[in-house]
Parts: sequence; C-alpha cells; structure tokens
Amino acid sequence: MSDALYYKSASELSELLARKEISSVELMQSVIDRTKAVDDQVKAFNSFDEKDALKQATESDKRREEGESRGPLDGIPVGIKDVLAVKDQPLTCSSKILADFISPYDATCIRNLKQSGAILWGRLNMDEFAMGSSTENSGTKVTCNPWNLDCIPGGSSGGSAAAVSAGEAIVSLGSDTGGSIRQPASHCGIVGLKPTYGRVSRYGLAAFASSLDQVGPMGRTVRDVAALLQSISGHDIHDSTSYKTEVPDYVAAIDRFKGKKWTIGLPKEYFENASDVASMGPVEKAIEFYKSIGCEFKEVSLPHTEYAVATYYIVATAEASSNLARYDGIRYTHRAAEFDAKDSVDIYCQSRAEGFGNEVKRRVLLGTYVLSSGYYDAYYLKAQKTRTLIRQDFVEAFKEVDALLTPTAPSPAFKRGAHSGDPLSMYLSDIYTISANLAGIPGMSLPCGYVDGLPVGLQILGKPFKEDELVAIGDAFESAHDYKNEHPALV
Ligand code: GLN
Repeated sequence: MSDALYYKSASELSELLARKEISSVELMQSVIDRTKAVDDQVKAFNSFDEKDALKQATESDKRREEGESRGPLDGIPVGIKDVLAVKDQPLTCSSKILADFISPYDATCIRNLKQSGAILWGRLNMDEFAMGSSTENSGTKVTCNPWNLDCIPGGSSGGSAAAVSAGEAIVSLGSDTGGSIRQPASHCGIVGLKPTYGRVSRYGLAAFASSLDQVGPMGRTVRDVAALLQSISGHDIHDSTSYKTEVPDYVAAIDRFKGKKWTIGLPKEYFENASDVASMGPVEKAIEFYKSIGCEFKEVSLPHTEYAVATYYIVATAEASSNLARYDGIRYTHRAAEFDAKDSVDIYCQSRAEGFGNEVKRRVLLGTYVLSSGYYDAYYLKAQKTRTLIRQDFVEAFKEVDALLTPTAPSPAFKRGAHSGDPLSMYLSDIYTISANLAGIPGMSLPCGYVDGLPVGLQILGKPFKEDELVAIGDAFESAHDYKNEHPALV
C-alpha cells in the first residue's frame, strides 16, 4: 500500500480532483518525478514531453476552476502506446523505420481522450509494430518487468503495462492483436482489457493485422479500465469496421451487476495439461473464489483450440505483409542513406532492410509466402476456414455460459533472452489469448496471485459487446482481494 499520488487509482484521483484536495498539475508532477526516478531501470518510455504534459494539466485545473470538468478522466495522466497517432507527437511503433516520424493527426481514441480531458502522457515502448510477446523485439530499447528487472514485461504493450505497474502512468492505452494487452497486464500485475473487435475505432492505430487489432485500456483497477474503455468506445466514420451499437455505461455496470451469480465455463482444452502450466495455481484459487460467491461452473469445449496458434500466425503475418508494404522509404519512412540505387525497388529494399528488425522481416516473409500464388489455398484460405471454426466454438460455448475463465499466459514473466532465440516457443506462449482475437470476442486479464514472486493473471472471456459483464465479473474478484494495492518493490 502506498500513499503516493502516482499509485492511486484514476477513480480515487478523480474524486480528489473534484474535491480540489489535489490539482492535476500536482498529480502530473508526481507521475513525472516517479518516471524520472524509475524509468532508467524500467525503460517503459520511448519518449515523453514533460512541459506539454504539465500544460495539459494546467488546462484541466483551469477547467475545474471554472466548474467545467469533463468527467472522470479529466486531469488524469494516460500513457500512450507508441502505435497510436497523437498530433505533433512522435509515432515510432518502436521501429527504426519510423524513428523520425511525427504524427500529423490524432487517432480517434486519442481525440476521444482529449475530449474527456485526459492528459496524454508519453510514448510507451512496445515490440516493433506490435509483433512479439516480450518487448524484446523493440527497435528502441528493452523494457524491464518492474517486479523483477531481469524479466520481460510481456508484449507487445510491455511499456504500457510496465509504466502503470511502476507508477509512471495512472492508466494507459495498449493494442491487442493476439494478446498484447492481456499478456503484459498479466506479467506486470495490472488489469488489461481487449475489447470486442469493432468496439473501439482503429483509425490512427498503426495497422499490424487489421482483422485482429483492437485498442484497449490498461490500469491498476477494473473500474479504471472501465472508465477508460468508456471514453474510447463507439462508432467512428473513419473506421468502417467500428460497430454502430450503443456503448453501455461500464462503470455503472459494475454496481448494477453486483452480487450476480454468473454461469461460467471452463474450456476443457485449456485445462487438460493443468499440472504443466506454471500459472495454474492462482487461477484455480480464483475459480474456487467464484464458486464461493455462488457462480455456477460448467465444462465447455473449444475443440479447435489446437489450431489457434497456427491459424493466427498465418492470418496475422499475411495481413502484416500487406499493411507494412507502405513503409517503403519513399513517402514518410526512413530512407537508406548510402545507397547506390538502380531503381525504386532498390530503394525500397535497402530502406526496409535497414529500417525493420528481424521479427518484422520474418513476419513479412512468412506473410508474403502464405499469400503467394500456389500456396494461398493451402495456407491462407485454410487458415480463414479454421478461423471460422474457432469462432463457431465460442458461439456454441456462449449458448451455455456467460463467460469463460482461463489463465492469461502459461507462465509468469520469463527471463530476458529465454525465448528470443526460438520464435516458435515465443509464439506458443500466446495459446490462451489469441483465440479471442480470431473470434473477435472481448477478453480481460486481472491479477489473481503470484508464482515465484511474479504476478499472474486470470483471463475472463466474454460474449461480443458484453464488456460490461466482463468488468462486473472482474470487479467481483478484485474487490474481494488486495492485489490492486500491491506494487513492485522498485526504489
Ligand atoms: N504475441 C503476439 C504476436 O507476436 C500478439 C501480439 C499482439 O497482440 N500485438 O503476434
């Protein structure tokens, strides 16, 4: 338990701000000081602009002074993953190829945050173009897990998770294509929610795999995540895949559903080798907790689970190979300096060879291969069909249950370097998270205990657009435990 402002929840801070017990400038300063004290160790930020953040805080204080608060996020520092466009700020995707790029416009979720009065705080490190599970694939630096600096923070939103966990941001935005919000949240002991595909606009999110990508909130409490989700959700004319449906009041849902006895499914394929799964102990205790408050449990089956990792790594790489074609050294990315280019193809090749890291190159090559004529049917088309079957598994399961409980990741955070020489073993650690992206359903990870002194997460998967139920189910666990007040022992 810490009294520092930087470790308070957004909901608590918002009340303190409303009662004028603190100012937003004071809060921002506390977060800046904390960042300066610990970020040499954690390395969560690619960059931040202290002056600009304090200017935003001053504006928030002025609004409050004039009785014009914009709601629960007004004056709260929100860390931003370096994959989202904020006008006039760097947008690097942690890639050398975008090292000098400044965004000319705001992503829709950023515009919404600005309208909520939130302070946009810094650019958070990630795996390059969100490809990875450890933030080791970043082209800028390697972020450390605040709970053990020798361990990875998870990825690809590793900076977003580590910053919130270490008190360098109150809440943050991440993106999740195959687990990139939930898995780092699990590894850093915080809450992270991947919304239903279409819940949040992707306009201004640098695309990795467009049919899987979603922007989502990360925070130290379920309530904070609900409030942040509220601010970024909704239909957007700039993203035709964003969905035209009502956005419920997520924070109110937590109270509205209080005491509800949910019917919860346990996917049998996820628990088959339970004794080999390091994170299973705390997850099993969480299941016992839900039983103790009257929830009913049913075994369900997701029979196509074994194909999920392979399907994802075909679909995601195919889409990535197409999306990343725009980084060609001609329009706005790094252009190779010392070349003796014969033609424009030569310029593309040299610029991309210099600008992209190894994992990105691997994925572009894999994606190009699975889409190439002669292999398209065998790989890409087959993966699309399998994806439909995976989605159908969830449709069937949700006929019987309100939500599913699973581990978020098979193990707690691993040591740096443990998987970096073996991409396949890294890919396999996404086993519990990627099906939700293939099926388009929402998922949340919240802290449920420790293994070897490192936090592990419980994953709750829900029906499409039922994020209100997810946060209510999560809050039932969170409010009966004290994990949200437990912080890493950083100095
Ligand atoms: N770890 C997965 C990958 O490497 C997921 C990444 C993500 O969700 N952005 O593709």
